Amino acid sequence: MHDTDAAQGLLSATRVDLPPGNPDCLIEAVETYALAVPLARPIADSTASLRSWIVPVVEIRTADGRVGTGISGVHLGPELLCDVITNYYAPTLVGTGSEDILGTWKRLYWLPTHWLGRQGTVHMALGMVDMALWDLAAQRAGVPLWRLLGGTADVIETYNTDGGWLSLGIDDLVRDLTTLIDRGWRRVKIKVGSPDWREDAQRIRAVRRAIGDGITLMCDANQRWDFSTARQILPVLEEVGMDWFEEPLHADDLEGHQRLQAATTVDIAAGESLYSYHAFSSFIAGDAIRVVQPDVTRVGGVTEWQQIASQAGGRGARLVPHAGDMMQVHQHLVGTTLGEPEPLVEFIPWTQQAFRDRSVVRDGYLERPQQPGASTAIDPKARRDWQIRGVGSTVGLRS
Ligand code: MG
Repeated sequence: MHDTDAAQGLLSATRVDLPPGNPDCLIEAVETYALAVPLARPIADSTASLRSWIVPVVEIRTADGRVGTGISGVHLGPELLCDVITNYYAPTLVGTGSEDILGTWKRLYWLPTHWLGRQGTVHMALGMVDMALWDLAAQRAGVPLWRLLGGTADVIETYNTDGGWLSLGIDDLVRDLTTLIDRGWRRVKIKVGSPDWREDAQRIRAVRRAIGDGITLMCDANQRWDFSTARQILPVLEEVGMDWFEEPLHADDLEGHQRLQAATTVDIAAGESLYSYHAFSSFIAGDAIRVVQPDVTRVGGVTEWQQIASQAGGRGARLVPHAGDMMQVHQHLVGTTLGEPEPLVEFIPWTQQAFRDRSVVRDGYLERPQQPGASTAIDPKARRDWQIRGVGSTVGLRS
């Protein structure tokens, strides 16, 4: 064979058409919109005060009429996420197959939008699309997502974050947490991060006295402190048996987290402000954290979340996701990896009313969803009541 024949052969090999995918899976339309879901009560941590939680939504419709839904969760800017999907992702999605989840992830990730945001808006929009494709895959298989991922069928313990706000005075804080414990939770988290850490020390000690030693207590500074402040409160956290100290420092301060973790027996936790497999890799392999908290709405969806979860398990770190999805998707993701001896998920109920298939938690324990899909479908009444005007649009074969 001459060289030119070999070159021709290579050329023709690259031109061989791939086997056609399932025609039912052809993506026909991509729609985006957003909801502003009102909170039952206003809340505050060390960084923000909130009256509503905004849920950007993408719905991907395939030729067989199925609709896969991906969601995110933000304080503001839902139009940014919707615009990335509408303007840059949807034109490349329409007309392709929904089954190629990993291939689609890589294709969208390496679009020129990569330069605009490997973390944050662009990446979160990728996560929404990825989530919608996994929702479709689970629907098509006729099983809930956790079953498609091979998860255990056990009930999953939740810890309660819907209490312990910085906006509460000490008496209300204690009352708030004891109410949660009376309702069945055995693990609760409180916010810290006041300008004077001694005020937080006072609050922590008051809470521990009130709830007793049998309840697991965690705290979260939402990145508000510098290293020396965070270090000063460590003896108090050790004294009360704090289970973990969440986001003590700026999320990108790898070295600070490493020094802090080396200085205490309390587990340092972080992850809600890390957006990628590579960012987590530095923190996990660098022994900067012992509790790993990926959020499926901030990393690139289910696909990247699973990779991060595997990393955590391989290093012996605890995996406890941050629930920017208000647990709706994470209820499927926990308990699907080898590194979770006791799966645990964060309970925040703020957006339950927005979903058609609401999560079920009794006495602090989650019952695995049984409906096919990822539990992301939006309730039609919620859309009518809470859709934000002027945000989102539709791209489709016929549009
Ligand atoms: Mg947090």
